[in-house]
Amino acid sequence: MYYDEAEKLSRLEIERLQLMRLQRTLRQAAKSPFYKERFKECGLDVDAVKSLDDVKSLPFTTKQDLRDSYPDKVLAMPQSEMVRMHVSSGTTGTPTVIYHTQKDLDWWASLMARCMHMVGLRRTDVFQNMSGYGLFTGGLGIHCGAEKLGCLTIPAGAGNSHRQIKLLMDFKVTGIHIIPSYALYLTTIFAELGIDPRTLPLRIALVGAEPYSEESRRRLEALYDMKCYNSYGLSEMNGPGVAFECTEQHGMHVWEDAYLPEIVDPATGEPVPDGEYGELVMTSLGREGMPIIRYRTRDITRFLTEPCPCGREHRRIDRLQGRCDDMMIVKGCNIFPMQIERILMSMPEVGENYLIILERDGFIDNIRVKVEIRDEFFVEDMRQLGSLQKRIASRLRDEILVTPRVELVERNSLPKSEGKAKRVVDNRERGA
Ligand code: AMP
Ligand code: ZN
Repeated sequence: MYYDEAEKLSRLEIERLQLMRLQRTLRQAAKSPFYKERFKECGLDVDAVKSLDDVKSLPFTTKQDLRDSYPDKVLAMPQSEMVRMHVSSGTTGTPTVIYHTQKDLDWWASLMARCMHMVGLRRTDVFQNMSGYGLFTGGLGIHCGAEKLGCLTIPAGAGNSHRQIKLLMDFKVTGIHIIPSYALYLTTIFAELGIDPRTLPLRIALVGAEPYSEESRRRLEALYDMKCYNSYGLSEMNGPGVAFECTEQHGMHVWEDAYLPEIVDPATGEPVPDGEYGELVMTSLGREGMPIIRYRTRDITRFLTEPCPCGREHRRIDRLQGRCDDMMIVKGCNIFPMQIERILMSMPEVGENYLIILERDGFIDNIRVKVEIRDEFFVEDMRQLGSLQKRIASRLRDEILVTPRVELVERNSLPKSEGKAKRVVDNRERGA
């Protein structure tokens, strides 16, 4: 059962549509001061793009390009045509601003509604959006999709956990959108209130906006007794609704009628062979107000090459491994925070939160991992705690090849944020 026609296109139809839309997007982009200049610099004749393969010869767009174009040099239409703007999260300094026309917003809402429909949400569902509103796209982006689908939509916003829980219970909420770190944290509030989240009518959660492991997903599914579907998006490509898991829960379908995804070697920008990890590069195919060509997302993933048993032919990307910028180099080993999360979340003694701290002793870098421990395992017996500490350190060493200093802490003692979690603190500059 499909939400719309585009969802059931064959590969051939998708690629035909993509080429047409790529050509249209390039002509539209060329109207913006930024791309007019960029295309001129690299001698690009947009009418010479005749195949999807030609995308490889187009210039990349980076976050820095968007920052340098602040506030409006990437607009392809007059500002008077724009009806909304959003800003990419987690950026310091000049933000990247993305503008939308009404048509852009309508299309975005349909893509989002398609994602929600795909995982079984219907107009009869009551949907609570528990992510920040305002400039962050996880608020209004998801909200408009849920309304378009026809759900009773509760714009709960981020934080205020007691109110979240009250809304969930009073309105018999069946679907939610929630950031994974917050979803894990919220279980500790449920525990404090003596409420078992599994008794709620909740059945489906859209979970995304930050990297999380398969182990965290399984944990959430068990803790809440609901299905969690991975939701990927970025403000530069609208926000949520770019790629989404189907009920197979194995990779996310990129809506290729609206986006042209590529995976490249982050160092060289050259395409990697299908199935290998690299940096996701995205071109918007549907936006008129602010088209973006070959955006370097810095997100690491790979294409899943097997056809999806669900029958959809929009290509799938694997769970995001993190961002190129997240890679930590400690004692010569390349480490991604997600490797640490995977191990921690697979251990039943480990609670819902952890923090990675990079330190420098003299000339040597060290990695410290603070780990919240479940109440029932946080015992007085120092020997037992010591052995747990050693076991965590050794499991981590097997994965990251460096022995971290593991510190066990009580539940809810680590800092938490209402938005995306900050999992890594780098104290190396301040080291001795
Ligand atoms: P923003 O600029 O605020 O829209 O944030 C977009 C970024 O959030 C992406 O580039 C990713 O790094 C991250 N992100 C969003 N969804 C996911 C997801 N499902 N898994 C991992 N990272 C995600
Ligand atoms: Zn599928």
